[in-house]
Amino acid sequence: MTKISIPDFALVVLVGATGSGKSSFARKHFLDTEIVSSDAYRAVVSDDETDLAATGDAFDLLNYTASIRLKRRLMTVIDATSVKREDRAKLVQLARKYHALPVALVFDIDPKICHERNQNRPNRDFGEHVARNHAKALRRGMRGLQKEGFRQIQIMKSPEEVDALGIIREPLWTDNRADHGPFDIIGDVHGCFDELTELLGQLGYTIDPFEAGCEELIRARHPEGRIAFFVGDITDRGQRNLDALRLVMGMCDEGSGRCVIGNHDFKLNKWLKGRNVTQAHGLDLTVAELEKTSETLRKLVSDFIWNLRSHAWLADGNLVIAHAGLKEEMHGRGSGHVRNFAMFGETTGEVDEFGLPVRL
Ligand code: ATP
Ligand code: MG
Repeated sequence: MTKISIPDFALVVLVGATGSGKSSFARKHFLDTEIVSSDAYRAVVSDDETDLAATGDAFDLLNYTASIRLKRRLMTVIDATSVKREDRAKLVQLARKYHALPVALVFDIDPKICHERNQNRPNRDFGEHVARNHAKALRRGMRGLQKEGFRQIQIMKSPEEVDALGIIREPLWTDNRADHGPFDIIGDVHGCFDELTELLGQLGYTIDPFEAGCEELIRARHPEGRIAFFVGDITDRGQRNLDALRLVMGMCDEGSGRCVIGNHDFKLNKWLKGRNVTQAHGLDLTVAELEKTSETLRKLVSDFIWNLRSHAWLADGNLVIAHAGLKEEMHGRGSGHVRNFAMFGETTGEVDEFGLPVRL
């Protein structure tokens, strides 16, 4: 059995010819209420699930139901052929609008098998060409699925592979509702290491002995297990950027600290990855310090930033931590837009002379 995990909040698009087994698969793995089916809506609007003239109205309803479910942060499975790129594009757009991850489950089944199965079905008495044309359209578009915006793609090439696929649902990275801390939420550190250690001391954290300016991580913890939750922007502007990174990374590694991403962290990582960035707003100070460190340390910092979440949705959903803010409709969701909003806040869509988004 092949098991894949998908987020427990996602827009799952089944892609496959008529007779490829989409509806059977959906029934096996998803709740009836999670499945939004074009056939079911064709029946609703025409009393005949095969009435192709009702397709337009059926898809209006399908889109509406999917929108409402996604708005309410519910798993949504689209059961339609979706073999055409333009049909999928509308669904990807819908997923983006509600910050749900678009997942494609592809039934790349021999059209002969599809046709044989359809012959035993009461309302599928159409020619062999139908499944064949679906399969052709599907294969034309299959390689472009990632470019279309699907973040997870699973292709099944035979009925055996379809039967063998298991689905595990996992909470999104940002969904930490089960975590209750207690948290000490610490704002932008900006390289102010001395002030940070003083603050942690006042909050009752003990910091292990360390040497200034070297590369080893600095470890600290709270005797009662409190968690220092950093809101991002660890470096830039202050005088001890390397040490601030060592401490925050050390605490996150230890489990006594957590951190979400800030716009300065994001930009620092651009520099670490060798991209051309304007060294403004204090980044020059951090760069000057990190240029003197080993490549290993710089890689460690880069990986650390790469793995930072956009935001954290905590304490039964009663607490959200994000660097620049987050609208309620984005809490516990994931998309490029959510990540940008969490880092930069509401922006005008333009960039300033430093290449940074202009904020409202
Ligand atoms: P459509 O696009 O026409 O709605 P579909 O992709 O939803 O088709 P299903 O209705 O799931 O296809 O399956 C078509 C037929 O194939 C059904 O009669 C179903 O019982 C049969 N079938 C589905 N999966 C399998 C399987 N793994 N092994 C054998 N028969 C299967
Ligand atoms: Mg079906």
